[in-house]
Amino acid sequence: MTNLWSSMAQRAEPYIPGEQLNKENIIKLNTNENPYPPSPKVIEAISKEVGKDLRLYPSPTMEDLRCSIARYYGLETENVFIGNGSDEVLAFSFMAFFEPGKQILFPNITYSFYPVYAKLFHIPYKEVPLNSDFTVNVENFFHSDGGVIFPNPNAPTSIYLPLEYVEKIVQNNREKVVIIDEAYIDFAPESAVKLVNQYDNLLVIQTMSKSRALAGLRVGFALGNEQLIQALIRMKDSFNSYPIDRLAMAGAKAAIEDQAYFKETTEKILTTRTWVTKQLEALGFKVLPSSTNFVFASHPEMAAEKIYEELREKDMLIRYFGKEPIDNFVRITIGTRKEMEQFIETVGEIVG
Ligand code: PMP
Repeated sequence: MTNLWSSMAQRAEPYIPGEQLNKENIIKLNTNENPYPPSPKVIEAISKEVGKDLRLYPSPTMEDLRCSIARYYGLETENVFIGNGSDEVLAFSFMAFFEPGKQILFPNITYSFYPVYAKLFHIPYKEVPLNSDFTVNVENFFHSDGGVIFPNPNAPTSIYLPLEYVEKIVQNNREKVVIIDEAYIDFAPESAVKLVNQYDNLLVIQTMSKSRALAGLRVGFALGNEQLIQALIRMKDSFNSYPIDRLAMAGAKAAIEDQAYFKETTEKILTTRTWVTKQLEALGFKVLPSSTNFVFASHPEMAAEKIYEELREKDMLIRYFGKEPIDNFVRITIGTRKEMEQFIETVGEIVG
C-alpha cells in the first residue's frame, strides 16, 4: 500500500505517558497526579458553567482566566498565555521560539517530551549530561545557539536548581529564549516568575495538573514578556483558536483563586514527602533530594524493574523508565498518607 503519511507524521516518535489503568482499588503513584480532589470551588464553578450556554464558543482571548492568573503572580493579562495542558504550551513554545538549524540545549536526564518535539519540528538539540549527583551543570547551558529549555525542579530527578543559577542561564543567553518548565514548582522553594519583568528572553511554563489537582481538565500556562506571549498567541490562533473549553476555563479560574485549599493540600503532600523519604531510606533506598510531588529512588540490592513489576502485581503503580538512561531508579508519586503507608509496607516486603 502507498505510504500516505506526511514526512512529519513519519518523523513523529510519540511520547508514551504513564499507564492509566482502568481498574478500581489500585494505588496509583505513576504519573504525578495530586492525590486530593480539586478545590470544592472548582466543582461549584464547573457545575455553574454547565448550566450556562455550552452552545456558544468559549472566549478565544481567555481574558478572565488570564487576568486571574496574572493577578495571582502580580503580572498583567498580556504576560499570560493559556493552553490545553502545559504539554501543548510547550509544543507552541518550540514552534514559536526554536528554529531548524539552531541547536537548543536541554539536560540529560530530563522530561522526555523535549526530544519528541525537537524531532517533530526539525530542531537540532544537544542533551547536556547532569553532574554525577544528578544536579544541573549551569555553565554548560551558557551561550546556546538556539535557546534552552529545562524543567525546574527537574523531572524525573526531582532536584531543584536555585533561582540565582536559573538567572545566570537566562543572563548568558540574552539573544535566545530560555524556557523554564515549572510543572512542579509549587512543591519547591521559589518560582522564576519573579524574573519575568526583568528578562524579556525568559518564558516560564506552569500547569494546573499537579499542585491544583486538575490533570483531567488540561490547563497549562506560560508567563513572560508581552512579545513572547504575542508569539504564542499567534501560534495558537494558527492551529486552534479555542484550546480551552468553557468548563476548563471556569474550573481553572476557581482553582487559582482558592489560595487556602491550595496551601492546605500542598502542605499535606510536603509532609507526606518527608515521611516517605525517611521510610524509603530506612529500607535502604537512595532517595534524591526532592522538591516535587514525587521522589526518585534506587535500591542498591534490587533492580528497579523488579521493584516496579512486583508492586504492579500487587496493584500499586509506580514509574519505571526502562534501563537507559536512568538505570536503576524508579519514580514514586506522593499519594495520601494512607496510600503511602500501604506502599511502604508492600515495598518493604519486596526489598526486605
Ligand atoms: N512538564 C513536565 C516536566 C512534566 O512532568 C509534565 C507532566 N507529565 C508536563 C510538563 C505536562 O503536564 P500537563 O500537560 O499535564 O500540564
